[in-house]
Amino acid sequence: MESILSALSNEIRAEILKMLSMGGSLSFTEIMERLNMAPKSDAGKFGYHLRTLIDSELIASDEATGKYYLTLLGQDVASFIYGVEDAIRRKKGEMQVRTSSLTIEPFDRKKIVQALIREANVPRKLAESISKEAEERLRKVQVKYLTAALIREFVNAILLEKGLEEYRHSLTRLGQPVYDVTSTIQNASYVGYYSPAEVHSLAGDSVYEEYLLLKVLPRTIADAHLSGAIHLNNANYWILRPADVQHDLRPVLSGKLAADPNGSIAPSHHAPKTLKGALYAILNLVKVSTELVSNSQALPFFNIFLAPYSSGMSDDEVKGALRDFVYLLNTIAGCSVPVAVQLETDMPAFLSDAPVGDTEGLKYGDFHDESLRIARLLLEVMGSKDGSGKPFMNPAIFLKIRKKTLVAEEGCSCLEKACEMAGKWGTPYFVNQDLSWQTENVAYNASLSRLDSAWKGSELGTLRTGVLENITINLPRIAYAAKGNDDLLLERLRELMEISKEALTIKRQVIRDRMKDRLLPLFQEEVSGSPYYRVDDSAGVISFVGLPEAVQFHTGLDILDDPLPLNISKKIVESMLEYSKEMPQLRLMPSYVTFEPAAHRLTSLDISSGLANAKVIAPYTEHSVLPLTRPIPLKKRLQVEEQFQSMMVGGHFFNIRLDEPSPTPEIICNQARRIFETANIGLFSFTKDYTYCWGCGEVSAGLNEKCPRCPCSGDRLVKYTRVYGRYKPSRKWSNQEREFATTMQRFML
Ligand SMILES: [Zn+2]
Repeated sequence: MESILSALSNEIRAEILKMLSMGGSLSFTEIMERLNMAPKSDAGKFGYHLRTLIDSELIASDEATGKYYLTLLGQDVASFIYGVEDAIRRKKGEMQVRTSSLTIEPFDRKKIVQALIREANVPRKLAESISKEAEERLRKVQVKYLTAALIREFVNAILLEKGLEEYRHSLTRLGQPVYDVTSTIQNASYVGYYSPAEVHSLAGDSVYEEYLLLKVLPRTIADAHLSGAIHLNNANYWILRPADVQHDLRPVLSGKLAADPNGSIAPSHHAPKTLKGALYAILNLVKVSTELVSNSQALPFFNIFLAPYSSGMSDDEVKGALRDFVYLLNTIAGCSVPVAVQLETDMPAFLSDAPVGDTEGLKYGDFHDESLRIARLLLEVMGSKDGSGKPFMNPAIFLKIRKKTLVAEEGCSCLEKACEMAGKWGTPYFVNQDLSWQTENVAYNASLSRLDSAWKGSELGTLRTGVLENITINLPRIAYAAKGNDDLLLERLRELMEISKEALTIKRQVIRDRMKDRLLPLFQEEVSGSPYYRVDDSAGVISFVGLPEAVQFHTGLDILDDPLPLNISKKIVESMLEYSKEMPQLRLMPSYVTFEPAAHRLTSLDISSGLANAKVIAPYTEHSVLPLTRPIPLKKRLQVEEQFQSMMVGGHFFNIRLDEPSPTPEIICNQARRIFETANIGLFSFTKDYTYCWGCGEVSAGLNEKCPRCPCSGDRLVKYTRVYGRYKPSRKWSNQEREFATTMQRFML
């Protein structure tokens, strides 16, 4: 006893015991460092203290590691020291607080007062009285581990008790429960998060989603989202980024716009003189923009703007440069946001006489043949395999076909290459540019959003702008409320359109504010008198899910058996289009394309609230007018779909999922031509299922569980198909995406 008490009679020795109780075992030098003792001059003194502790059997050293640790006796004594310290603090009435800036400070009531005034504008007198009450209660409960967060919880509870709910909203903390973080880390790889960065970003997502709903949007909009009447896409990035961007490559290629205007890390380019240089400048633009948008970015007129750089090069040289571009796009530029490359097969009128950079006398129209060559060679690269035999996921190719294309030799060969690529990888998108409603130059993005050039003349409509955001309306919810009454149905639809419009108006202001905050550095850079990203010209998409389910509930009739359901469907979409035209300056556009899977959440909410019958209802139809799981002949689908695509000016997509054995490229090509020539379809694609084997590199047709060539199965096989409009490997599918990918109807051509 005496030796223990004398061991404790020195502050340094007490510190050593506390240190070992917190930090496990530590070496001689580690302890000295933490005590801020000088390694040489203090070594003698320190050694003496250490020996005293060893002699009294409070600490011992591990022979293997040479580190010191607490004996059982030492552990008891260390907690005794803590107890004494607490008792002293209590006697002095002092509480120690662990703050959010990772320090330990004495409790200070004034800080509560300051926070109440600064964060919630609470009147000073009220703030004083709340802080006093909080202090009194905290003292009474004698918390052992007092943190700033805990004090905040106390204060919030007091605010609630006093009926001061609004103040509490401003003071609350956003974030995740400890349990959620733990389970996210443990389950990450099962739900498709394969990197530490993705897991890390989930915490940020939850904070910014909560912030959006609590602080940015009015209660009516937040509640409409939470109750499932609407769905806010990209809630995680809603207040930080626009959804997508359609670039203009000319400012970058002329060396007038630095992709990273903060100039911090990314190198700035002079006006490139070679194809390679031009492609590097574009990569730089893509890389920087990846972090500025939530969904996708597009490179319109890609082959036309590049054509002046490839003159005089051989096919192999051009292909080599394009192949490097595709590799770098998928690695260095990052794939988190997909990139759309739009390939033109004819010279758009507005570019024909437009000058090429600052070069005297050169016009883009002079490079028509060259632009077709680049398109064809890029299609060849994209149709090939990477080093281990897999397809390239980026860029998404949008081949724009004009009438002239189908009769010109080079144009036809582009179409053939794209059909070969479709037969092999299924990835390219086909755009029918010559439908009257497509306007002079339509621009689709990888998110499948669509902008037309009728807006303020051709360039302002599609270049250096994009879609701000997409709000999805739950149509079945409207039908349940209308109880078969057409007027009520359209009235309720209009209410939700109003709410969506309001949300999109707020979004526009939010993005303007972020540009002012210099959070979107490239986008606010001035190009010919306006910011690079033209917020005023950007569009708001109002999309929907569950059209066939809503109409079937409303009419009680099968959508294919009777003309009435189809007419109601048209009425719904028409009234959305009319509503959007009432306020032309807002550039609102209806669409059935969502930017993230929304139907699953909305269906579940309708089922749990008793509105929808769980036995009857699969997830509502998304990305289509007709149910996608139901077997309906291709011809019939085309007939119905073509009545709607022209009205859904914000985005549409006709996806022809091929059944196995899938058709030859020639058959695909004939089908594509038939659609171009006869159908009113703006955007379509052929989706092919295939499975890649990591064991032997074999690509087999269909979605397979076993490799047909080697014994590999399970995780060694990666399945590919289009989910919600985009190709994705199975390792990245969420549960909903897996269901979407495997249950959809497939067609024989
Ligand atoms: Zn294999």
